[in-house]
Amino acid sequence: MFVRKMAGMLLASSMFVAVSVSPVYADATEKTAVNDLEKYVAEYDLDSENHKEKDSTDSLTEKISDEAPDLDEGREAANEAAEAAEEAADEAQGYADKTEGEEIEEAAEAAVEDAENARAAADLAEGANDGKTIDMAVEIAEAAKEEAEENAKKAEEGAEKEAEEARKAAEAEAAAREAEAIASAEYLGNFTLTAYCNCASCCGTAGNATASGVMPTSGHTVAMGGIDFGSKLLINGKVYTVEDRGTPYGHVDIFFDSHAEALQFGMSSADVYLVPEY
Ligand SMILES: [Zn+2]
Repeated sequence: MFVRKMAGMLLASSMFVAVSVSPVYADATEKTAVNDLEKYVAEYDLDSENHKEKDSTDSLTEKISDEAPDLDEGREAANEAAEAAEEAADEAQGYADKTEGEEIEEAAEAAVEDAENARAAADLAEGANDGKTIDMAVEIAEAAKEEAEENAKKAEEGAEKEAEEARKAAEAEAAAREAEAIASAEYLGNFTLTAYCNCASCCGTAGNATASGVMPTSGHTVAMGGIDFGSKLLINGKVYTVEDRGTPYGHVDIFFDSHAEALQFGMSSADVYLVPEY
């Protein structure tokens, strides 16, 4: 091993000698010619060195201008990912602000953190001048963006769930209030029941608003004189609101969407109760 190394060194130094040691010249004429030649070569070399330098500068400039669009593209991609992550974080934060849920709060916090990571990666890309660093930054920014979007989705789903629960709770509360009101309803009497719709044969002209001014709604609107608009009547287990006129007190006209339904209802009688406001 040692021998081979030595041999290698010798070979290297002998090559060095061969290329760098000036030859010994036989006479002055030859020496002058050689001096001129050396001078020429020195000048040429200088020039050639300049050329080389210029060439390498050109090729570097070319290389940079070739790479620059890619680097810019990378920086742009990282920035876009950071912007998307920030948008997702804002969205998640919006849900967290409007809701109470701990899960939503946590998802929003995670999304904000993801957005910060994405932005840090974009900043890294912005300051970097090599493709490798920028590629890495883009990868980090995009992964952070995806996580931020997932967390925003989690926050949205949490908010939807919460809204659904709130709606159900409100419905249950309204039902409880109605049940309570029904329990204390006042018996008015056994009234005549008929039905009508919004057609010309029921109302003279079609499509009219009720006498109280609102448009009639099936399953809700009834007409009867001698009682305030807005009064709630319990008829056959269902609560209606007096919004129209056309029949005297003691005769409830129930609104239906179609004339066929009104006809089918026909005429009957039922116990009617006045339900207090609830
Ligand atoms: Zn009709």
